[in-house]
Amino acid sequence: MTDTNQARRTALVTGSSRGLGRAMALSLAQSGFDVAVHYGRNAAEAEKVAGEIRSLGARAEVFGADLSQSANAGALVEDVIKAFGNLHVLVNNAGITRDTLAIRMKDEDWQSVIDTNLTSAFHASRAAIKSMMRARTGRIINIASVVGLMGNPGQANYVASKAGLIGLTKALAKEYGGRGITVNAVAPGFIESDMTGALSDEIQKAYLAGIPLGRFGQPEDVASVVTFLASDAAGYITGQVIGVDGGLYPH
Ligand code: NAP
Repeated sequence: MTDTNQARRTALVTGSSRGLGRAMALSLAQSGFDVAVHYGRNAAEAEKVAGEIRSLGARAEVFGADLSQSANAGALVEDVIKAFGNLHVLVNNAGITRDTLAIRMKDEDWQSVIDTNLTSAFHASRAAIKSMMRARTGRIINIASVVGLMGNPGQANYVASKAGLIGLTKALAKEYGGRGITVNAVAPGFIESDMTGALSDEIQKAYLAGIPLGRFGQPEDVASVVTFLASDAAGYITGQVIGVDGGLYPH
């Protein structure tokens, strides 16, 4: 979209310095959005993503915020709105794992995953909704996980955070549908990224055996669904959980 007469819409993707978030940021830029690229630790990677977006002809700005401190998420959204003048799409994508069996899980492993994956998404959404209500339009897309639907051993904290995101999605969809705001969740299966690259060969093989499409997903498989949900074509979809998992968990 290079029409300068048309008001440009902004998308913020949390955790877009790498992995799935990076692919989402690029895909949204390709479909005509200006993009706020967010990072936690990898400022240099985020700058690279912003450079790629600019070379596509879209505006990109980089924002750093540690989302393990949930209050930072609201401030991040406010900073983005200040810089761009609007926020049409919020993608709550940043996430971490701290895997271990529940009986061995330390309080801080539980809390950091809940704070980063769930509480920050709530804080960001609350700040975004205030601006979206004034615009009478907006899209919130929460990146959950197939394990938030099916459960998974060794991930009580992560599973709880992702199931919580699905609940948050459904509640916000009902609260703000009347204001023109849609809220949906995407539940990826096994997607190749740094997060899944850290899993043992044995766990990777076990996942692969359960995927009817016979391959792991790519970040772009998820990004295309996010971009669709952000588009006008998805205007009548809200409160949904869209699986992108190669058939791993039909629901
Ligand atoms: P990843 O490669 O580990 O990337 C994680 C992203 O989140 C990075 O951009 C990172 O930023 C950011 N982040 C992490 N901790 C942060 C913090 N405290 N503050 C701010 N940003 C932080 O993960 P991914 O595989 O792309 O996953 C992205 C999302 O998809 C996550 O929510 C994950 O749970 C979900 N998901 C992934 C899969 C999969 O198979 N990969 C499956 C289901 C769901 P920095 O590097 O700049 O710190």
